[in-house]
Amino acid sequence: MLDRDPAERLAMVQAAIDAAAHLAARKPADVTLIAVSKTHSAEAIRPLILAGHRVFGENRVQEAEAKWPPLRAETPATALHLIGQLQSNKAEAAVTLFDAIHSVDRLSLVTALARAMDKTGKRPTCFIQVNIGDEPQKGGVPTANLAALIGEARIADLPLAGLMCIPPADIEPAPYFALLAKLARDEELAGLSMGMSGDFETAVTLGATHVRVGSALFGERG
Ligand SMILES: *Cc1c(COP(=O)(O)O)cnc(C)c1O
Repeated sequence: MLDRDPAERLAMVQAAIDAAAHLAARKPADVTLIAVSKTHSAEAIRPLILAGHRVFGENRVQEAEAKWPPLRAETPATALHLIGQLQSNKAEAAVTLFDAIHSVDRLSLVTALARAMDKTGKRPTCFIQVNIGDEPQKGGVPTANLAALIGEARIADLPLAGLMCIPPADIEPAPYFALLAKLARDEELAGLSMGMSGDFETAVTLGATHVRVGSALFGERG
């Protein structure tokens, strides 16, 4: 697929999402494709914007601050999602730049984001990142602490959209996607940010509302 041009890759990924949605009796329009452009230059991103794509993901605040203001000046309707870990001291920069934040994983960050939203008046949609395999060293709130963190995010009045996960590497992701979907249902949260280049179709059949796809669109990162 990577010998094709970016617009063709975009069309193929979107077609695969649509097919997976149909398979699960879901509406393709209920799945948002986030094109993960981290490490890729404005020159690599622009063809996707020209092909009509409007939703992009970055994992670092500083990189996005450098890259996106000029691109957004060209195409104001472009939405930007933060998918990487966020330090509390960058909360204000993050809410200023991003339309959604997928990596809310601890109380100190909930507090920092609430304060930053009050100060800036900007309220990006928030996803709580769950350490769905309860792996040591992995980002995300442990599953045992999820309910408490959701409660704190609700008290802080964060605009909570749903849950996000990155399943353990190199094993079948479906059970983890199914578990995230169950946790979201239990908490009456509609959003499910799950699925990457290798597994987004599986994620869509299990209810993903947001898939985060990088290398299948842009090629391998250098
Ligand atoms: C890089 C990244 C992705 C995209 O990964 P690909 O395998 O390149 O599609 C998705 N989610 C997160 C959190 C990432 O950091």
